[in-house]
Amino acid sequence: MTWDAVVVGSGPNGLTAAVVLAMRGRSVLVLEADEHIGGGARSGELTLPGFVHDICSAVHPFAAGSPVFRSLPLEEHGLTFVHPEVALAHPLDGGRASVVWRDEDRTADGMGADAVAWHHLIGKLARDWDRLAPMALGPLLQIPSHPLVLGRFGLPAALPASALGRAAFRTEEARGVFAGCAAHSFLALSRPLTSSFALLLLAAAHAGGWPVARGGSQAISDSLASLLAAHGGRIETSRPVRTMRDIPAARVVLFDVGPRTIADIAGDRLPRHFRSRLRSYRYGPAAFKIDYALDGPVPWTNPDCRVAGTVHVAGTAVETARAEAIVTKGGHPDKPVVLISQQSVADPSRAPAGKHTLWAYTHVPNGSQTDMTDAIERQIERFAPGFRDIVLARRVLSPGWFEQHNSSYVGGNIAGGSNGGLQLALRPVLGRPYRTPDDALFMCSASTPPGGGVHGMAGYHAALVVLEGAFRDGVRSSSLAASAG
Ligand SMILES: Cc1cc2nc3c(=O)[nH]c(=O)nc-3n(C[C@H](O)[C@H](O)[C@H](O)COP(=O)(O)OP(=O)(O)OC[C@H]3O[C@@H](n4cnc5c(N)ncnc54)[C@H](O)[C@@H]3O)c2cc1C
Repeated sequence: MTWDAVVVGSGPNGLTAAVVLAMRGRSVLVLEADEHIGGGARSGELTLPGFVHDICSAVHPFAAGSPVFRSLPLEEHGLTFVHPEVALAHPLDGGRASVVWRDEDRTADGMGADAVAWHHLIGKLARDWDRLAPMALGPLLQIPSHPLVLGRFGLPAALPASALGRAAFRTEEARGVFAGCAAHSFLALSRPLTSSFALLLLAAAHAGGWPVARGGSQAISDSLASLLAAHGGRIETSRPVRTMRDIPAARVVLFDVGPRTIADIAGDRLPRHFRSRLRSYRYGPAAFKIDYALDGPVPWTNPDCRVAGTVHVAGTAVETARAEAIVTKGGHPDKPVVLISQQSVADPSRAPAGKHTLWAYTHVPNGSQTDMTDAIERQIERFAPGFRDIVLARRVLSPGWFEQHNSSYVGGNIAGGSNGGLQLALRPVLGRPYRTPDDALFMCSASTPPGGGVHGMAGYHAALVVLEGAFRDGVRSSSLAASAG
């Protein structure tokens, strides 16, 4: 048999591409190297029996706000997003904290002197989310369907987060939480475009929340797989693809893997110049992660942090910028930015009664072998004295571990590549996104627009390109309903 499409890799983008194609009546096979599906959206018992940990992604503002996920019946296939009382908290010394609620007014009120600025900069984007998200979570070079909305986002988004945070806000609360969100860029906050991460993540908090998936992030992957199966698609695990010979006959192949892996697999099918551009794709800093099994809730000094799904432990905006600058220069900060998810606060199914899970990671230079456990725990203790006393077990996942388990995480970089310079938007190479010089080979991973995160939008856009181009399906790129229907 000749498949209409084979997808290499079952991460959220690969599965979304497969679902969109299968829903259009195409025969689809997904080949996954690992014995489990899901790539960066997976869960497992990493510490003690009864504790369910998210191996990679944990917090899902982009999944909850994703235009393609919203258009798919994922709830009918087992996915439930659960929302913590507080979306995001950013503790400061002295028991203070910046608190982002799902409710825009409540959040702005808490920002004191920055209430008006919050409504103006963040609130407006949140209220425009349904028009903004399809553009912001898509290829850059497209005719915007709502130019004014895109302009309102794009102008401040282009600025360095340090500069915009300082100019827009006066309080340490607003500046701190803005800087913490910008740190998701894995870039020094003095770099252009770092504001785009903070603006999108904070707007998403009001638009769709920062939920976790009930039962673990694996539920996102499993729901996509179930939907795929309902439309006749097939997934084969433990099927690493090393060369084109490992791929059964197919009209098109979509690669949900990193650019270097594509170059290795495709070999002579792609011209030498294109392969060398794929091989020179740049990777940024890495993640050093610890999963904890806890004897009880984290004893945060600030009470709002205790009911937050996500806590950014970084201190002031200045400290945050300093730590990220050190990492991008190849160093390991004493006071790192620690991104924390307390999944079990919102989803008690993650741990035995009264116990909790904690997911924490920090940024380190690409390929780092430095143990950041002590630095991470000192930062948490700073805002939650007594934290170490409630640790029942911890499991460290180093940059090397990530690369070993997923070839897309080169050197432990979990963002699908560096977000620096033009590579944020024009990835993996300058040219028509998702396509290669071979009309039957396509790219759909987080190394294509819009980049890292669990949102499925790269897979969605790649599937539309396949439908329009290779299959001449007449689907308009702007039409989500067309692909999902
Ligand atoms: C520690 C960590 C924390 C994160 N936190 C968040 C978060 O909280 N929220 C969020 O939105 N995002 C988060 N992310 C990012 C998110 O998980 C990724 O951006 C996303 O999973 C990328 O999806 P993808 O489909 O492009 O690729 P991936 O999810 O990386 O999937 C690629 C798949 O391809 C498979 N594969 C690789 N090589 C081959 C081969 N040769 N043959 C066959 N299969 C192959 C891999 O095994 C994998 O299953 C996190 C990632 C990590 C690692």
